[in-house]
Amino acid sequence: MLKDQDRIFTNIYGMHDRTLKGAQSRGHWDGTAAIIKKGRDWIIDEMKASGLRGRGGAGFPTGLKWSFMPKESDGRPSYLVINADESEPGTCKDREIMRHDPHTLIEGALIASFAMQAHTCYIYLRGEYIREREALQNAIDEAYAAGLLGKNAAKSGWDFDLYLHHGAGAYICGEETALLESLEGKKGMPRMKPPFPAGAGLYGCPTTVNNVESIAVVPTILRRGASWFAGFGRQNNAGTKLFAISGHVNNPCVVEEEMSITFEELIEKHCGGIRGGWENLKAVIPGGSSVPCVRGEKMKDAIMDFDYLRGELGSGLGTAAVIVMDNSVDIIKAIWRLSKFYKHESCGQCTPCREGTGWMMRVMERLVQGNASVEEIDMLFDVTKQVEGHTICALGDAAAWPIQGLIRNFRDEIEDRIKSKRIAAE
Ligand code: SF4
Repeated sequence: MLKDQDRIFTNIYGMHDRTLKGAQSRGHWDGTAAIIKKGRDWIIDEMKASGLRGRGGAGFPTGLKWSFMPKESDGRPSYLVINADESEPGTCKDREIMRHDPHTLIEGALIASFAMQAHTCYIYLRGEYIREREALQNAIDEAYAAGLLGKNAAKSGWDFDLYLHHGAGAYICGEETALLESLEGKKGMPRMKPPFPAGAGLYGCPTTVNNVESIAVVPTILRRGASWFAGFGRQNNAGTKLFAISGHVNNPCVVEEEMSITFEELIEKHCGGIRGGWENLKAVIPGGSSVPCVRGEKMKDAIMDFDYLRGELGSGLGTAAVIVMDNSVDIIKAIWRLSKFYKHESCGQCTPCREGTGWMMRVMERLVQGNASVEEIDMLFDVTKQVEGHTICALGDAAAWPIQGLIRNFRDEIEDRIKSKRIAAE
């Protein structure tokens, strides 16, 4: 279990003072100028060595992503954009950073922007996060007043402005290019890639989009050293991580833990166990609603990291939003509800997603009732494969994967329901 002295987020539950004074007393904003004076290359090399992989779901190496930004400007400014549009069902970890530990994010924004030679950073905040916006804006105002932002930010010699932009509540704006469109004042619709944002992002300028947690951990990694961070978790799955556990555990919570902790330890140590005991565990969605669900009995010994969940269980760590379901859950109905969500949130730009999400949802609706033939299960699976990987953005995959997980893991339950419906009708 992660020791208290190794926690990056020291006020995640809001038990302490979240103001600048409180943050400084817990070690934040300590030696920020000295870190920046070590230079861009040092920072990026340290981030690469730390092994940090993006915390927004995709798990792309953060230091590598930063290195894609141009070293020399061709006249265009560079931007850092922080994705705080936390809208994936089940995911509620970044909000704890923003409302209780906002200075971790602000200090991280300064250092990361410097590493990318960006004088401006935007935080794109989910429309529903009103209190988070207030807390974050207060912290930004405090930082400006203390000279930590603005000209010669934190006496680092780097001029830096940080803006908070409040979205309007569309899930798709969490997709990085839709987010950029929305930030530019347009409809939040994903862009075709390439060009990638590092080449042409916000206002056609080099841009990196990073998740809140990915940026908020940066100052502590650089203060304590890449090897300290890399010492947690298995190889290629380094660091500490915020897990957000919801559903049928005794104490749902958000907790910072070591990567690669087992599912059992995570649930027993922090959530007081499964409601009704381990025999009552039916299914787990280990990484936010878009990753495939896993049968309960396969989860107990699962290692909670990117490679294990993908390689061994065919699911994913995603945002580490762990949704636990016990035997009281109608799993077909639960996945139908997710299908309904993705259908509603599709921007409609590409045909497989626009038509496919609706089609899949309607078949799922019938499966919930058992109003289908067994052959339609394979047909549904086939359609998910035609949607997956054939769309402009990852929403198509996100709509397809939960259904694939359901069919792979709970086919017996779907068939049973169809058969009992048929028997009842005879
Ligand atoms: Fe829009 Fe869906 Fe296409 Fe993404 S996959 S661009 S949400 S229609």
